[in-house]
Parts: sequence; C-alpha cells; structure tokens
Amino acid sequence: EVKKNGKNGHQFFSKVLDEHLLLRIELESDLRKAVKRNELELYYQPQIQTGSYSMIGVEALVRWRHPNKGLLSPGVFIPIAEETGLIYDIGTWTLQEACRQMKEWHRAGGPLIPVSVNLSSRQFHQSNLVEYIREILEQTGLEPHYLELEITESMMMDAAVSTEILRELHEFGVKISLDDFGTGYSSLSYLKQFPIHKLKIDRSFISDITKNASDQAIVATIISMARHLNMEVIAEGIETKGQLDFLMENSCQEIQGYYFSRPLPAEEVEAAFFAPYRDAEKSLSVGFTKE
Ligand code: C2E
Ligand code: MG
Ligand code: MG
Ligand code: MG
Repeated sequence: EVKKNGKNGHQFFSKVLDEHLLLRIELESDLRKAVKRNELELYYQPQIQTGSYSMIGVEALVRWRHPNKGLLSPGVFIPIAEETGLIYDIGTWTLQEACRQMKEWHRAGGPLIPVSVNLSSRQFHQSNLVEYIREILEQTGLEPHYLELEITESMMMDAAVSTEILRELHEFGVKISLDDFGTGYSSLSYLKQFPIHKLKIDRSFISDITKNASDQAIVATIISMARHLNMEVIAEGIETKGQLDFLMENSCQEIQGYYFSRPLPAEEVEAAFFAPYRDAEKSLSVGFTKE
C-alpha cells in the first residue's frame, strides 16, 4: 500500500515538474527570439517630487509581449534571461531603448529628467560594461547625467570588482541608485566607500508603514542616513495617501508608486505628463513626433 502511494505521489510530482519544465523550456526558446522579433517593450514609471508633485525622473521597466501568452512581467523572464545569458542582449536593448526614448523626449521639449534603468547581476559584472554604456550614450546622444543605473546591494558584494566599475561610471557622469534598499546584505561601510547617488527604499518597508512601528523606524532612519551621507532617497511602492503623508512628514522628497502612477507605455507618459510641453511644441509648430 505504502509503496503504491509513494509511487502515485512520485508520478504526481513528476507531472507537475514536467509541466514546469516544459513551460520553462518553451519560454526559454521563445525568449531567444524575443529581441529580434521586437517583442520587448519598455514601460516607464514616473518618479515624483512630494512637495511640488512634479515628475523628477522615470524608471524604465521591461515587458515582454509574448505572441500567445500576453504581456509578461520581468519577474517571469528576467531570471531565465539571467540564467541563460540572454540578459546581455535584453539588457543592451533595454539600455539603448531607454536612452533613445529619453533623448527623443528631451529633443521634443519634454522635461529634462533622467531615466533609471535596472541592471542585473550578470550585466553589472560584464567586463566591458562601462565601455558599452559609453557607446550607447554616444549613439543615442543622451548626456551621461541623464542616465541612472539601478543596482542592488548584493551586486556590490564583490567589492574589488564593484569599486572599480562604480568609480568609472561615476567619473563618466552616470548615476548609480541602490534598488530595493534595506532588503540586501550590504554593509553600511559600502555606502561611504562607493559613489552611490540615491537610495531606493524597498516597497516591503512601505506597505504597512501607517501601522507598523518597526517599518516607520527603519524608513525614518534610512531617510535621515541618506541625508547625512549627502545622498538622495526615494521611496518605492507608495499606494495610499497615508503612506505618502508619512513620507512627507519624514522629509522624503521623492516617491514612486501606484498612488501616483503605474508604469506606462511611452505614449501614455507623453499624454498624461507631457501635455503642456506638447501644446507648447505645437504652438511653435515643431510637433512632438516619433523618430
Ligand atoms: P524594481 O526595479 O524594484 O521595480 C519596481 C517594481 O515595483 C516594478 O515591478 C513596478 O511595477 C512595481 N511597483 C511600482 N510601484 C508599485 C506600487 O505602488 N505597488 C506595487 N505593488 N508595485 C509597484 P515590475 O515592473 O514587475 O518589475 C519587477 C522587477 O523586475 C524590478 O523591480 C526589477 O528588479 C526587474 N526589472 C524590471 N525591468 C528590468 C530590466 O529592464 N532589466 C533588469 N535586469 N531587471 C528589470
Ligand atoms: Mg528598479
Ligand atoms: Mg525596487
Ligand atoms: Mg527589484
């Protein structure tokens, strides 16, 4: 009896595993063609100044318009891209497209704000990273200080490597943000050692912030630490007025979250946020045109 159950259990598991494996193999093989077939899209999430409600930046977030599975979020395919090395192509496309779009917006009279682009671990440790970022900026014409690269704390763990990369990027004028700050393992001494421009407080500290005293203490401490270290600080994942109020009371001047805007396709960013610029351009009969 026991043996039989065990066998059924095994069969059940291997069926589930097979399904996962099949989906994974299918996605992997589709992902190999995604860049060439133009299936990747960038969405942009506005970053807002709390006092003035003006847009002070946008984060580029990649999406994959799969031919029959619909719009897939990066959580589904970035890990596969990382494991397989496809992240090099996807990462290059993402950087190019984000810089191209931002330069196009600048040229058309949009606000002179930076674009943030997420780097994955393998990309960050790519030996020619600085060189290829330099090339992309040259190609697209975007000035280096309008590009911010988001890395996570764990990427800085190999201090010998990251010191050099971060210093080169900094000297070149590209800015570095620490994404998901507070969830990683970085030692605080890294913060003074590396040229970090901005801390992004992770969403997990924000979700319960109106009720949870520990989260309140952590967030208030990060904000104050950033100020003392002369870094900028932005809170991620603001969904409610209550969360916004807490952050404003604690002098956090930048926020990003659904409360203000979800990530949007480029045309919707233009329509929702650049309307005055677009009108101004129209009256000069220049037009807000796509290249
Ligand atoms: P992230 O860089 O921390 O990006 C923030 C994520 O939180 C985004 O999810 C965004 O849509 C979501 N978000 C923003 N505001 C809110 C909010 O108020 N509430 C909630 N619940 N969520 C909010 P998304 O776009 O699914 O991206 C997930 C992660 O995938 C990103 O986390 C980033 O680590 C990675 N990713 C996205 N685009 C790229 C890319 O181009 N390259 C690489 N390497 N990674 C990327
Ligand atoms: Mg990010
Ligand atoms: Mg984050
Ligand atoms: Mg993240």
